Amino acid sequence: MNQPVAAFAARSLLSRYTSCTVLAIGAHPDDLELGVGGTLARLVRADARVVMAIVSLPGDHERRLAEARAAAAILGCELRILIGAGRRIDDFKPYQLVGMFDELVTDLAPVAVLTHSATEFHRDHTAVYQATVSAQRLRFFDFFSYHPTMCRPVQMPFQPRAYIDVTETIDTKIKAINAHESQFAGRGLDTEVYRDFARLHGRMIGVKYAEGLDVGRMLLA
Ligand SMILES: [Zn+2]
Repeated sequence: MNQPVAAFAARSLLSRYTSCTVLAIGAHPDDLELGVGGTLARLVRADARVVMAIVSLPGDHERRLAEARAAAAILGCELRILIGAGRRIDDFKPYQLVGMFDELVTDLAPVAVLTHSATEFHRDHTAVYQATVSAQRLRFFDFFSYHPTMCRPVQMPFQPRAYIDVTETIDTKIKAINAHESQFAGRGLDTEVYRDFARLHGRMIGVKYAEGLDVGRMLLA
């Protein structure tokens, strides 16, 4: 059997970000855990500083804030919430969203940014993707998009172009997802489907579990 990953193990993509700041942006709490939870946990283990920026906390603000904090702690990431209680992403014009991300990028100077993809069924997610695209003009960071995220599976077109082996962090990812009790256990929703997604992506590169990313921009020096 081919062992494609073994040949690249000493040249991990993640080691590229050791001692650097990686910014991960999600429209709502749970988006980042679903889309790139395993990758974020691996980045932390590779000694990157990982900041999870959540744009808004819909619903019960206090509960969702507590869940977001618990999940970020499980992954080992810093957490920033961009919009205060009682306001939604729809309340902001596109230039205001871009302004928020400009501030983040200027403040954190990330070497990589992970965000939603262009193909999402949730309008908040596409708004966040588009504002992140605009923030690229400020710095030359690597730019990745993660798989469309959802609490209930919906088929969306997404073509991964890079795969991260998350075999060692898949359990951490599922634990971080489960921290969002109001979205899953509280609604009787199963989270093992996300392990299935990771298993499917893992099959594509010969590992047990993986997460797929689309590549918007990357410098190979
Ligand atoms: Zn969302």
